[in-house]
Amino acid sequence: MMTASLPFFDGHNDTLLKMLIYGEKPDRFFAESSDLHISLHKAEQGNLVGGLFAICVPPPELSSGGKEKLKNKTGLNRTRRFQPIGYRHAYDITLKVLRQFFEIKRLSGNKIRIIKSSNDLVEAIENRQFSLVIHFEGAEQIDASMENLEIFYEKGLRSLGIVWSRPNIFGKGVEIRFPGSPNNGEGLTVLGMELVKACNKLGIMVDLSHMTENGFWDVARVTDAPLVASHSCVHNLCNSTRNLTDIQLEAIGESNGLVGVNFAVQFLREDGEKVLDTPAMEIARHIAYIAGKIGPRHVAIGSDFDGATIPNEIGDASGLQNLATALRQTGFNDEELAMISHKNWIRVLKETWRA
Ligand SMILES: [Zn+2]
Repeated sequence: MMTASLPFFDGHNDTLLKMLIYGEKPDRFFAESSDLHISLHKAEQGNLVGGLFAICVPPPELSSGGKEKLKNKTGLNRTRRFQPIGYRHAYDITLKVLRQFFEIKRLSGNKIRIIKSSNDLVEAIENRQFSLVIHFEGAEQIDASMENLEIFYEKGLRSLGIVWSRPNIFGKGVEIRFPGSPNNGEGLTVLGMELVKACNKLGIMVDLSHMTENGFWDVARVTDAPLVASHSCVHNLCNSTRNLTDIQLEAIGESNGLVGVNFAVQFLREDGEKVLDTPAMEIARHIAYIAGKIGPRHVAIGSDFDGATIPNEIGDASGLQNLATALRQTGFNDEELAMISHKNWIRVLKETWRA
């Protein structure tokens, strides 16, 4: 008997960042073959129905022609990526990527929908439109007065990671290290706490991935929305600073929140190594751990497609059904599979957006 294809909604990808760095035009998103992990074609093949698309602003050295620099490993040292970037640069790049976003939507005819409410999301999935939710990863393009937060909201911003793994005026991101504890630095500034409240008021999801543990608790103290880490894994299974401790997982469960499990191999594997030949079962292992600890209502996927080294067995969005197979082998029933693959994301976005 053929098992039905499982629809996946994804909490995080860096496809727009990769397109920016590689200088790809918006029509690449529709190409039959490309080096992107997510294209419309690959999404259809893997039954990816949509996800949060991150706008993460790279340093100026990488923002154009970055592909060659990355390939030749010139023009950018590793530490530069983790140093602060300026507001003006972040703002300009954000507008540039937003225009790309809108162009991708236009080029799709009616095949892609930019999601601004939970109704939009339910309708888009019913109508088989691919769903894009606009997410900022790092709030460098938000000014200290936060006046432009509302303008970005009107343009479609529905999710905000206050910090990427670098400091900004709102707080400090977590260093990416293995082995290490997420408790490795300060959390949010006073301004950062105000930004959380402003997001609550507008109905913008606050993303906890890339925060230090202190930042995580700062958000937990002030937010009135479910706690969400869009692309993180389990610290108890892989000792990376980017992963969540059991106490953090419990707080997420108690808030009726969600963890999107990251597919990056170095956040999954016990040895923290970047090994392509990592089975999809490693992702299922993290999902099962979270489901066992806080319940299957609080775990989903946050692939990090186009921003991470993904297990070969999945490769890109077209291989998502191999994860479905691993999840079935883990023993999840149909109802749990539907929650983990898409329903949990729909629920938590609905509760956060309140519209
Ligand atoms: Zn990230």
